[in-house]
Amino acid sequence: MEYQKPIPLKTQDNSPYWDGADRHELILQKCNFCHQYSHPPGPSCAKCGSSELSWESQGSDINGKVYSYIVSYRPFLPGFQDDLPLVIAIVELDTLPQVKLIGNILHCSPEDIEVGMPVKMVWKEITDERSLPQWIQS
Ligand SMILES: [Zn+2]
Repeated sequence: MEYQKPIPLKTQDNSPYWDGADRHELILQKCNFCHQYSHPPGPSCAKCGSSELSWESQGSDINGKVYSYIVSYRPFLPGFQDDLPLVIAIVELDTLPQVKLIGNILHCSPEDIEVGMPVKMVWKEITDERSLPQWIQS
């Protein structure tokens, strides 16, 4: 069946991140000036505004903890109606606690989600070329 949900658009500012996701790898943007990670990626550093940015692979073994979450009971975008309720979390990376990533927690019921829950990044192949980073309970 064809994928019904919106596919994240690659732009000049974020394509290394999504190209990494397609290879099942986490690539983070890092500022050359203040050496902070900047996520989500943008045209300039979220911390200091510098446009001197580089990209750093974190590999494919990505673990974190739930920092905060919401449970969505209504589809806010087309294609999500079969996934409800949907658990969407902000995940703090174990290796880089200053970096927080937003993503769905798969196979997780709203009763089970809690702050501090350990999770692992997985990549869901949504088309022949594209994959989306998601999380599962670890
Ligand atoms: Zn910076």
